[in-house]
Amino acid sequence: MNNVMLDIETLGKKASCPIVSVAAVLFEPATGRVGQTFYARIDYQAARQYGQPEEETLLWWQKQSDEARQEAFGGKARPDVVARALRTFIATHCAKPRVPWGNGAIFDIALLESWFDRVDPQKDDQGNDRYPWSFWDVADLRTLVRLSGIDVRAIPFAGEKHHALADALHQVKIAHTAWQRLFPDEGQSYASVTEYQLTQCKRALTALGLLPPVSFFSERERHLPGQHSHAVNLRSDAHEKSD
Ligand SMILES: [Mg+2]
Repeated sequence: MNNVMLDIETLGKKASCPIVSVAAVLFEPATGRVGQTFYARIDYQAARQYGQPEEETLLWWQKQSDEARQEAFGGKARPDVVARALRTFIATHCAKPRVPWGNGAIFDIALLESWFDRVDPQKDDQGNDRYPWSFWDVADLRTLVRLSGIDVRAIPFAGEKHHALADALHQVKIAHTAWQRLFPDEGQSYASVTEYQLTQCKRALTALGLLPPVSFFSERERHLPGQHSHAVNLRSDAHEKSD
């Protein structure tokens, strides 16, 4: 897996603010499959040594649930230890090219880069700041959602909101739902061009409200004994091939 969803809980919205918890979840946007996860909570006082809290965010935390607040402010780890652990986690488990996702183009990833600069600064051979990813691979969930047109409120949340790991896992669900809407054929193969074409017809009719959203093919019909079949790569040659 080369996609990693990141979520942080912070004491502000600016790049200079302290980070109190970090979660990272490896995933596949096309399938929604989840891989290894990382979650760390940072000691509140230590976190404040590496950033400037913002009053508005501290007041916002006071309005959140006791569970969310205890989770965010109950950490014991040192920021530099967490930063190195996060670098190691991504280097070890995330395939290249590493695509880090944040919920918002200017939040999680941007704040994490600034945090690495303060907490665990590292340089590459050319003297450039070193992060667990390359800046040109950074991805933004909000843009994906906006392009897809999905309603994120329809996706049920599991666990406690503002718990970084629960948030990151939820964001993986959102990414997968949006991805499916944008690229419905990705990750699928069809027994024949006919099956592909019928599926497209079903989708079009469903979108028009002329069919209920049910599977067009039963499992038995998909695997008739002796049926001639081959996988069809729909993105490149579906329209040229015929059985
Ligand atoms: Mg969060």
